[in-house]
Amino acid sequence: MDIVREPQKWQQILRDYRRKGDSIGIVPTMGALHAGHRSLLQRAREENQIAAASIFVNPSQFDNREDLTRYPVTLDEDISLLEKVGTDLLFAPQAESMYPDNYTYAVTEKALSREYCGKYRPGHFEGVLTIVLKLLLISHASRMYMGEKDWQQYVLVKRMAEAFLIDTEIVSCPTVREPSGLALSSRNGRLTSDELEKAPLLHQLLSSDRTIEAIKEELETAGFRVEYVEIFNDPELGSRLLAAAYLGKVRLIDNAKRTQGPL
Ligand code: AMP
Repeated sequence: MDIVREPQKWQQILRDYRRKGDSIGIVPTMGALHAGHRSLLQRAREENQIAAASIFVNPSQFDNREDLTRYPVTLDEDISLLEKVGTDLLFAPQAESMYPDNYTYAVTEKALSREYCGKYRPGHFEGVLTIVLKLLLISHASRMYMGEKDWQQYVLVKRMAEAFLIDTEIVSCPTVREPSGLALSSRNGRLTSDELEKAPLLHQLLSSDRTIEAIKEELETAGFRVEYVEIFNDPELGSRLLAAAYLGKVRLIDNAKRTQGPL
């Protein structure tokens, strides 16, 4: 696998593949790769001639400094996982090269990014959309793969690609879970053993037919600090229950399809 650190070089390599007629699938990540990322990488491998990934802990999307400084970095293990699934190219840039403007230019979305997680994480989606737009512009990808675990992020990126007339298909992939139902996340490693036991309740309740109020109550009783549990409705994408809740210092998010039952 080739590892590229310079955006200009990345852009040139991928442009050349696209000109030759190769399809390119890209999986953007922040590293600390697990089986959730692996499922996206496998899909990119299966569906494209060139399978590419990026690892970049994007500073502009962290609204909390401590979360950024504590974000796990496991580059050697990540590289071996990427090689095992047959990834051809890895882009692992430095922050300065992705932000030559010192983040004076940013992508603003004025509706969905201000709801759900956006209400509680000011600037988060602005940072996400800005870095994803940069990746889209330099990667010439036929497809970009995103996890349903971050449902709001997936919808925002898909709609951004449509808004800016970008010719990359944004593909969503199902959430990979522990046998307990807990969604895999790079932040799960920060849960204490007691919190790890409680954490699967979030998914269990979201995929039940309980009302939103009942879900919130049960989470609080179990020791979660609930940020929100809200319904997302979209004519094209259907209805989902989205939630964020803290266990100790760790913020967990999850979502589940909601097809029936009173809210
Ligand atoms: P991250 O490294 O957390 O920025 O995630 C990179 C990509 O992997 C995003 O599109 C996430 O939605 C996706 N992802 C993270 N965890 C999971 C999971 N458990 N199942 C499926 N996709 C995931």
